[in-house]
Amino acid sequence: MVSIDKEKCIGCGVCVSVCGEVFKMVEGKAVVKAQKNIPCVKEAIDTCPVDAIK
Ligand code: SF4
Repeated sequence: MVSIDKEKCIGCGVCVSVCGEVFKMVEGKAVVKAQKNIPCVKEAIDTCPVDAIK
């Protein structure tokens, strides 16, 4: 299951760019909109600049 640490998230939007099927922006922070086991989730985890996605 993927989750986002809201305290860490800086709202850069990279995870949404990389994996818009799973992440979306809400009030300047990323949230998980759908739990999906797809390859771009790992890409988002690897790309997040503050390591906020688990
Ligand atoms: S990539 Fe990381 S810091 Fe950027 S919006 Fe997504 S969770 Fe937040």
